[in-house]
Amino acid sequence: MADQDEPGGDGALAAVRRLAAVRERIVRAARDGGRDPRKVTLVAISKTFDAAAIAPILRAGQRVFGENRVQEAIAKWPALRQRQAPGDIELHLIGPLQSNKALEAVGLFDVIETVDRAKLAEALAAALRKTARRPRLYVQVNTGAEPQKSGVQPEAADAFLAACRDRYGLEISGLMCIPPVDGQVSPHFALLAKIAARHGLGDLSMGMSADFELAIQLGATHVRVGSAIFGERG
Ligand SMILES: *Cc1c(COP(=O)(O)O)cnc(C)c1O
Repeated sequence: MADQDEPGGDGALAAVRRLAAVRERIVRAARDGGRDPRKVTLVAISKTFDAAAIAPILRAGQRVFGENRVQEAIAKWPALRQRQAPGDIELHLIGPLQSNKALEAVGLFDVIETVDRAKLAEALAAALRKTARRPRLYVQVNTGAEPQKSGVQPEAADAFLAACRDRYGLEISGLMCIPPVDGQVSPHFALLAKIAARHGLGDLSMGMSADFELAIQLGATHVRVGSAIFGERG
């Protein structure tokens, strides 16, 4: 097998098998929930994994990836992208964004999932005036109102969405949440879906390795799956 002559060959084979299993579980969860599996996009979260670990997943046909740090993504993705057709890869930013990195983020990412405060909305609006790139933007909602977590508070979401549109001229196309690690996740997914419906937002990024099937049942259009594909992070 060619894979085994490459760095991490055995690991690569296992990762490709896990990718296939995750894809199957997504299709099954969508069908079980009476949803069209094509309306659920798998975002493979490749944070902390290097290009050698990502390459086999790309070769297996995965095209949508997520990273949580701007600098790490800039170090990895331009080179990986060069091997593909232009526009082939869709890259999501799923981690907090500092406003002084807004222009870099707009230059690299196709979707920025973590818009969560006025200063960042303003910086993104300024960045968009300097470039022709138009990443899709999601607002992150801190559904558990956890003090250490980023995201707009649920009760402030309506006003923030209005400000993004009216004050900063940003088009928001979806919402994203990371529920608290302990406790039930369903109420958080349901709350996010409810806010999105109220604002007519089509994209719902929710669900990770441990709970993506539940998220799909509650309307996720994007599931962010890392360790179930790449293995445990070191
Ligand atoms: C790391 C990360 C994920 C993926 O987590 P897994 O449990 O490895 O699937 C999803 N979303 C965000 C925001 C993350 O930081």
